[in-house]
Amino acid sequence: MKIQDISVNIVFDSRACATIEAVVFDTEGNKFTGIVPAGKSTGVNEAHILDPHDARRVITETVSPAFNDKEVRSIAEIDSILLGLDGTGRKEQIGGNVMLGVSIAMVRALAFAQKKEPWEVIRAEFFSNETELRSPYIFSNLINGGAHAANNLSIQEYMVIADTKEEGVLRSIERLIAFYKELGEDIKRMYSLPRITIGDESGYAVDFDDNFAPIALLEKKIVTSEMQRAYRIALDAAASGFYKDGAYSFDGNMIDEGALKKIYDTYFDRSELLYSIEDPFEETKEDAFRSLQVSHADRVIVGDDLTTTNTATIERSAKNGAITGVIIKPNQIGTVTESCEAIRRAHELGVRTIVSHRSGETEDPILVQIAAAANAYGVKIGAPLRERVFKFNELLRIYS
Ligand code: PEP
Ligand code: MG
Repeated sequence: MKIQDISVNIVFDSRACATIEAVVFDTEGNKFTGIVPAGKSTGVNEAHILDPHDARRVITETVSPAFNDKEVRSIAEIDSILLGLDGTGRKEQIGGNVMLGVSIAMVRALAFAQKKEPWEVIRAEFFSNETELRSPYIFSNLINGGAHAANNLSIQEYMVIADTKEEGVLRSIERLIAFYKELGEDIKRMYSLPRITIGDESGYAVDFDDNFAPIALLEKKIVTSEMQRAYRIALDAAASGFYKDGAYSFDGNMIDEGALKKIYDTYFDRSELLYSIEDPFEETKEDAFRSLQVSHADRVIVGDDLTTTNTATIERSAKNGAITGVIIKPNQIGTVTESCEAIRRAHELGVRTIVSHRSGETEDPILVQIAAAANAYGVKIGAPLRERVFKFNELLRIYS
């Protein structure tokens, strides 16, 4: 496939913040796009983001000329050109958002040229050992707190992990939608609310009695609706968001790391269905992650801000015993190639991979294609409402 030109549109994400849509044209006049989402509770080691107006200048002046009339054959080749143009670890020169937008659009261009789906092209290049197509668990964020909601919860996300394998993806999503709607009615009744507010990822975002109350509510609802075989519970504490000067702000108190660990211990004791906790401590406190993982070997501690989709960091954290699960967010690292390398290494180390959206999302569903290519353990895609349904719909296109 030969590239003619690359341009960029400035578009808006689900929080009405400007982001970029990279537009790649091949020499036959076909056009392919890639849109970049944005996080709010970002890790300090994430790829640098250029302001969309600067991104437009960089694409016009630097990126497009590098691909002009260029024959490209693989995702790795394209991304190595982008990495070469940047030359910095954190993508400070041309920006992680510029690189990812172009990288995604190029995957679509390659897929078109080969008459394949994006996941097939990604699989052929990075995951050729995968022979079957296994639908991922859906991590669906039904109750929002932390940076994603204006309520009293320190913990950012209360998710159900829906098993899509037994009943199939369509039935599983239908049941999840029904569960989510009923949960909203339950919360209204429980707190005598005339209406209910939702957070950035479409989860319910009201005040609760404390940080455990949403877990208790989800557990009870899963049991009373006899969904124990289909659902477990996952948290994303996103603890850097409630950490300041050595202490965590939790249930109205400032507490230290040891006290927070004890609280998580009780959460695991009190909830049989609680399966995983993402970023339970501030993102540099790998020893604390490890201590929680060691105490609860049958549960999964997940790295996100801790690991920022960086292969070397994932490897270090996994080998240290700090995590047995990892979030993969392509815009944390900047290219499709690096995201796939991170997944590949995680799988080699026996770490469960969860390919994730950001809290500021768009209509671009590439994360689901990456998850399908890799047979990732899970996809984390919010509650089934509003712009979040685009990722659910992409699952349906691939798996049903
Ligand atoms: C997360 O922390 O996992 C998340 C999706 O939030 P954000 O995109 O705001 O980093
Ligand atoms: Mg997270």
